[in-house]
Amino acid sequence: MSATDPNCIFCKIVSGKIPSRKVYEDDHVFAFHDIAPWAPVHFLMIPKLHIPSMAHVGVEQAGLMGHMMTLAPKLAMQEGCNPYPEGGYRIVLNTGMEGGQEVHHLHMHVMGGPRPWLKG
Ligand code: 5GP
Ligand code: ZN
Repeated sequence: MSATDPNCIFCKIVSGKIPSRKVYEDDHVFAFHDIAPWAPVHFLMIPKLHIPSMAHVGVEQAGLMGHMMTLAPKLAMQEGCNPYPEGGYRIVLNTGMEGGQEVHHLHMHVMGGPRPWLKG
């Protein structure tokens, strides 16, 4: 597993080669609005390193995954999701073909906002 993959669209988004609408960035993660949102709020959070999927995550990534999971609720509120319990959001990590993963750079979907949603 190399740090970046020159053919990966999400690596290109991290480096700025492909433009995106940024939600958040720090040394380890990058978050940006999904280009085809399912819900009023729909952004993706990705590690800056090219990790292909959840199937590639081991104990070495526990800190990174914990960072992403604890950041998601804060960014969800910042981006306009309504407070729990009436509001809330959905956090999804599609993994592999049968899991519906289309882009093979690990990404967390965070979706929320008033229903109905376009999908889901
Ligand atoms: P997956 O199906 O792999 O879980 O989700 C990939 C997501 O990436 C999809 O929701 C899709 O709309 C989004 N996506 C694909 N290409 C781009 C892009 O170039 N820019 C942005 N912002 N989102 C993208
Ligand atoms: Zn990548």
